Amino acid sequence: MLPSLRVRSFKISPKMKYIFITGGVVSSLGKGLTSGALGALLETRKLKVRIQKFDPYLNVDPGTMSPFQHGEVYVLDDGAETDLDLGHYERFTHAHLSRFNNLTSGQIYEHVLQKERRGDYLGKTVQVIPHVTNEIKNRMYEAGGDADVLITEIGGTVGDIEGLPFLEALRQFSLEVGKENVLFIHVTLLPYLKAAGELKTKPSQQSVAKLREIGIQPDILVCRTEQPMTESMRQKLSMFCNVEQRAVVEELDVKHSIYELPLNLSEEGMDELVVQKLGIQCAESDMGEWREIVRKLVYPAGGQCKIAVVGKYIDLQDAYKSIYESLAHAGVGNDCSVKIVRVDSEMIESDGAEKHLGGVDGILIPGGFGDRGIEGKIAAAKYARENGIPYFGICLGMQIAVIEYARNVLGLSDANSGEFAPDTPHPVIHIMDDQREIVDKGATMRLGSYECALVDGSKARAAYGKPAVRERHRHRYEFNNEYRSALENAGLKVAGINPKRDLVEIVEVEKHPWMLGVQFHPEFQSKPARPHPLFCAFVEQALKLANAKRTK
Ligand code: GLN
Repeated sequence: MLPSLRVRSFKISPKMKYIFITGGVVSSLGKGLTSGALGALLETRKLKVRIQKFDPYLNVDPGTMSPFQHGEVYVLDDGAETDLDLGHYERFTHAHLSRFNNLTSGQIYEHVLQKERRGDYLGKTVQVIPHVTNEIKNRMYEAGGDADVLITEIGGTVGDIEGLPFLEALRQFSLEVGKENVLFIHVTLLPYLKAAGELKTKPSQQSVAKLREIGIQPDILVCRTEQPMTESMRQKLSMFCNVEQRAVVEELDVKHSIYELPLNLSEEGMDELVVQKLGIQCAESDMGEWREIVRKLVYPAGGQCKIAVVGKYIDLQDAYKSIYESLAHAGVGNDCSVKIVRVDSEMIESDGAEKHLGGVDGILIPGGFGDRGIEGKIAAAKYARENGIPYFGICLGMQIAVIEYARNVLGLSDANSGEFAPDTPHPVIHIMDDQREIVDKGATMRLGSYECALVDGSKARAAYGKPAVRERHRHRYEFNNEYRSALENAGLKVAGINPKRDLVEIVEVEKHPWMLGVQFHPEFQSKPARPHPLFCAFVEQALKLANAKRTK
């Protein structure tokens, strides 16, 4: 279901402040991380922050996009399938995000066209300005809730044709709410030319010129760079970009971890600059918690474990983003180092599991769709089960564990999922009843948060330390209850159930140190400051195995 874009009278919180973050020169500058880190900094000053992203592409949401195009699809509590930058926002801050916090051109145009067909425009010519820009502004008015500061990141790069309506809407918006309430931050790149031995400012000057052409003067320039900036470069950028010199902020590449970013920006005085420029009265920042997180990431006290993530998109930086982040958080939780080994499941198919998994201390199989590489994942699950290696199966990874157990322990050699073998005589994983007739691919899976009741005495119950939890979902297939008692009798225990629909949410192998599969996506609720209990328990077990091997 799409969020409503109803027109609202101009009634805004008198104290709400707005920060817009644009990007220049190249894509993949880390605007999302910068937005999240700025949110974190403002939270340390006891401000209530909300962060959102406007994506200028025409897809309604990224839910139907391939990982090759877009990286991970990040799922919110309310079931919205969103851009992975919302994952950064949730990890860096405590902001509660909803489907209203990721707006695309696709959503805007869909609504404008629906209104046009309904006759809402009363015979007027429907145009980008004002009709599309008004919809964008309405979303700004609707999005903040009770936050003190609303940070909005604009996807893409200044100069993109499709981004223009958004920038025009923001220009108008800043006029409407008062320029003293709005801050434009432009994130740009200072390329380092090896031959010249220097950083170059010209692309940044030109990208700021592009912004000024449409009437936006950035207040702060955040310069991404591999090398430290000199004072004279700050002067030059200040002069030619018309930005105060103290507002030219260096954002040097982080050394070890993205979670250094709030500390680095704090040292550059970014939060002080922002609150001063917006006239916000608030507490001083306290970076103690972030310092401790980074200390544990960079100098962990308690040893190292090696975790294999077995997937089919392991070459892509962003396809399993939240999984990699959650493993790092679990390292913080255990004060240990987690070394991630990315294993291509198709390589296991050709070379066998031992070659790629021999020596690892934990095996994680993340979510996925389609049958490529599936047999390699099943072999990985078998290897984990037979060798007592901690195993964490997430969504597809849980389904894989069930198939493997049915085949190799229960003896149903052709057990499979209806997704990969529609005619299998043993569909231990089958399509959910309410999914059978669905044809549309967009926003039609079982999405968002559902309750899971934990079974007493289970490993999951012990890890969570409470009887029930809510976790986020994104799937069409589920554990087939017709095989439940046979599998349980054979030692694959059900440890979590959705009470309303009696859906199996968690399975555990009884005779194994820690082999767990979850139908949901715990990685969407893990933060460095609050590592997810299941990731923590998994890494704890992997560490135990690593230590046992070392002392052998
Ligand atoms: N393809 C599986 C399903 O739709 C698993 C989905 C996932 O891992 N997110 O049920």
